[in-house]
Amino acid sequence: MKKINFNSTKTTLMLCAAISLLLGAAAGAVLGNNFANVTDKKEGDGYSPELAAKVDNIGIASVGPDAQVAWMVRFDACGHEAEEKCSDRIVGMSLEEVREKYENREISVFNAKRVVLTRAEHGYCPRHYVVRSDNGKIAVYKRSIDTLEENHVMDIEQKMDELDENFKAELQSGIPFSNFDEINQYFENADS
Ligand SMILES: [Zn+2]
Repeated sequence: MKKINFNSTKTTLMLCAAISLLLGAAAGAVLGNNFANVTDKKEGDGYSPELAAKVDNIGIASVGPDAQVAWMVRFDACGHEAEEKCSDRIVGMSLEEVREKYENREISVFNAKRVVLTRAEHGYCPRHYVVRSDNGKIAVYKRSIDTLEENHVMDIEQKMDELDENFKAELQSGIPFSNFDEINQYFENADS
């Protein structure tokens, strides 16, 4: 009798351990997803755990002729990064020289094969359609993947004064969407 109780307790404990492991993994997955789709502007402070980890990756005297150089832009509103075009040649430059010349960039990787120089930029990356109000007019904007410049996509026929204060405040700072369906849905909710 005692033996059976002991065994069942052990099984329960093992099950609990397995369940908490699973929960931990699930929580990790959720956190990971949240980071990839950061929409809360308060969290978009330019900090990137991914980059912080890469900074360790520094270990050569100067940029070799075969090193692949990536010029990255990190967008503070969503936390995403995009590569930009830059014709600067940095072959032969030391870490100190690169640091001095590109003060506005974070050197996140500096090794024989790869150099990554990242600068911060305000706003959302080219993956998002951003709906924003300017002078009472609501419009959709999207950055070009090639130039990273923000382009006006279309105006939205919705009068600002017909919206409640929450929607107005959101629209003033700009709201990111993945596609036009999401934008339509947002304004359907705003109307009701
Ligand atoms: Zn983004």
